[in-house]
Amino acid sequence: MNTGSIKPTPIHKLDDNELFSLYVKREDMIPYSFGGNKARKALLFFEEIDRLGADVVVTYGSSHSNHCRVVANMAAARNIPCVIIGPEEVSDTTYNSVLMELFGAQIITVPVEKVHDTIEAELERLRKEGKNPYFIMGGGHGNIGTEAYVRCYDEIADYEKETGIHFDYIFFASGTGTTHAGLVCGQILEASKNGASKDRKIIGISIARKNPRGRDVVLDSIYEYLEAKEISFDRKDVEEKTIFIDDYTGDGYGKENKDIENTIKDAMIKYGMPLDVTYTGKAFCGMKDYIRKNNLADKNILFIHTGGTPLFFDFLSGAAK
Ligand SMILES: *Cc1c(COP(=O)(O)O)cnc(C)c1O
Repeated sequence: MNTGSIKPTPIHKLDDNELFSLYVKREDMIPYSFGGNKARKALLFFEEIDRLGADVVVTYGSSHSNHCRVVANMAAARNIPCVIIGPEEVSDTTYNSVLMELFGAQIITVPVEKVHDTIEAELERLRKEGKNPYFIMGGGHGNIGTEAYVRCYDEIADYEKETGIHFDYIFFASGTGTTHAGLVCGQILEASKNGASKDRKIIGISIARKNPRGRDVVLDSIYEYLEAKEISFDRKDVEEKTIFIDDYTGDGYGKENKDIENTIKDAMIKYGMPLDVTYTGKAFCGMKDYIRKNNLADKNILFIHTGGTPLFFDFLSGAAK
C-alpha cells in the first residue's frame, strides 16, 4: 500500500442534539493497520525508507504507541526488522504492544532517561554490522510527518469546495504536535495559493504537554517545514494561527477520568464511533467543553478523529488503567 492508493478519509456529520453542525473526519478509517494519523505519517516515511533501501527501521515509543504498531506492521510487510526502544515506565501489555509482538518487532525497554543513548547505541551497532538503518522519531515527528498533515488539510479544503461547507473550527488531539503543524502549514499554503482565504481557527487540544513548551514545539515544526520548503511566512501570522489549548490534559498522558470515560461511552452510543482515553476521547471531551465555554455551538465544527482504535479496546477491557 502506498499513499497514492489512499482515498481521502470520510468526513461526515454527527447527529448531535447540542451541536447542530458538528462534523468528523475519520482518519481512523485509513485502510491500513487500524488507520489513524500514525498510519498517514508512516505511509510517507516508508516511501522514503523504500527509496533509500533501508534494511532495518528503528523508532521510539511506549507499549501504548499507535505509531510503533503501524511502523512495526509496515516493516513486517516488507520483511525488514523493526527495533522499538520504549520507556520502562510505560511498558504494560496493551493491544498495540501485542500487535507489535505479532509483527515480530524487537522491543528494547529501558528507563526513560536512557532512551536517547540507547537509540544512538543501537543505530551505531547496526551500522557496524553493515546495516543501513532508518530512524523514525517518536510519533512520526519531523517534516515528513508534517507533510502528511498538509495533505490532510488539502483533503479538508477539497471537501469544502465540493460541498460549499466552510469549517469555522477544526479540533483534534495534539501530542508531538506534528499533526497540528501540518494542518497550520496547510492553511498557510492555501492562503499563499488562493490569496486570503476565509478565516478559520485550528485548535489543538493538548493531551499531555503544557504551554508554553507544547505550543513552541508546534511552532518549531511549522518553521522547520516552511523553511525546508522555502515558503516565505510571517512569524506573527504563524503564531496567531497556532492555538494550543492545555486546559484538558487532566493528570497527564494516558490518564483517564470520569469525564473522558463518559465521553467515550456517549460517543459510542450516540454516533457508533470509538474514542480512546489518551487521545481522541480526551480531545473530544475538551472540544465540547471549549465549545460550551466560548459559545460556538452555532459554528461549523470539524473534529479530526486521529485514530487509536486498539486503545479503544484497551478502554473496553479495562487495560488502560
Ligand atoms: C499520536 C496521536 C495523536 C497526536 O498526534 P501528534 O501528531 O503526535 O500530535 C492524536 N491521536 C492519536 C490517536 C494518536 O495516536
